[in-house]
Amino acid sequence: MDTTLPTEDENKGGYGNEMVSEAKSSESAMQMGDLADRNETSVLQTLLDYSLWPLLLIGALIPTGIGIAFGHGPLAFNIVYFSLAGLLFVIEKLYPHEKSWLHSDGQEIPDLAHTAFTKAFVQLLIISLTWLGLATVVGGESGSGFWPNEWPMIFQVLLALVVAEFGLYWAHRVAHEWMPLWWFHAVHHSSKKLWFFNTGRFHIVDTLKSVVFSAPLLALAGTPKDVVLWFGAITAYIGFLTHCNIRMKFGVLSYIFNTPALHRWHHSMDLREGNKNYGENLMIWDLIFGTYYDDTKRRPPAEIGIKDAMPKSFWGQLVEPFRWKKFQKAAKSGATTKELL
Ligand SMILES: [Zn+2]
Ligand SMILES: [Zn+2]
Repeated sequence: MDTTLPTEDENKGGYGNEMVSEAKSSESAMQMGDLADRNETSVLQTLLDYSLWPLLLIGALIPTGIGIAFGHGPLAFNIVYFSLAGLLFVIEKLYPHEKSWLHSDGQEIPDLAHTAFTKAFVQLLIISLTWLGLATVVGGESGSGFWPNEWPMIFQVLLALVVAEFGLYWAHRVAHEWMPLWWFHAVHHSSKKLWFFNTGRFHIVDTLKSVVFSAPLLALAGTPKDVVLWFGAITAYIGFLTHCNIRMKFGVLSYIFNTPALHRWHHSMDLREGNKNYGENLMIWDLIFGTYYDDTKRRPPAEIGIKDAMPKSFWGQLVEPFRWKKFQKAAKSGATTKELL
């Protein structure tokens, strides 16, 4: 829709007085029509902005739930996981939040490699634990420990989210506040743009630390297998959504869930904004511990990343956190042969 109105000069040119007033009245009619159009568009657009996030999440959860109910949870999860990735890829192109983030950052291979590596490692860890018999605590059919098995599934899943979130919150917060852990978490924050594709860009040590902080809590509580599966699926889907480059609005949802709006602040280079919003799925612990941050009047920064040096290659990103100080010194003096981001 073209909302450009004629300029004063265009109106003046060649009209007699009568014609000017006629032109003016038709102009004001046009303005009103345009205004109505604009309102209609903005209402529709606002509706779309607010409904995209819940629609995408619910749309992913329903088929996952059906799969779990029929005993094919892992299969359903994997199908939904890749379908959601494909869908987000398309929507990002059609309805982006930040157009400058549509350009390639040259990090697709490291992004993919980190995602695949950490995924394979965590899966191997779960298989090993099952083989060792340790996972029976978590995976017992009827559950054990203090777990309220009699609760409806939805409340059990909510409980698992809150319990695990306590561990995930602290795992994330110490990674920002204790430097030796930041060196590994910096790989995730070194991205210069946010999109669904770099959701899994985590150093393996960083991922392992999150598992160590959260899994024992679920294990000690005796969380049943299906609830763990629900928790894993919700974490994966919300993770995709928090990083996606799609224009969306959230309103009150940002007080409950970790939405893209909140996570975009978290990726800010300004630490007054970046050292906030540590929640993985929920914002409950940020609200309790005072690290919640949002400002709906401002746009989160488009220019994101870290102030430290980071190698461009996957291998460099994997090894340099282990000798961080040396590497930073070399990068600063130009002594490193590694290509930097
Ligand atoms: Zn972080
Ligand atoms: Zn992130």
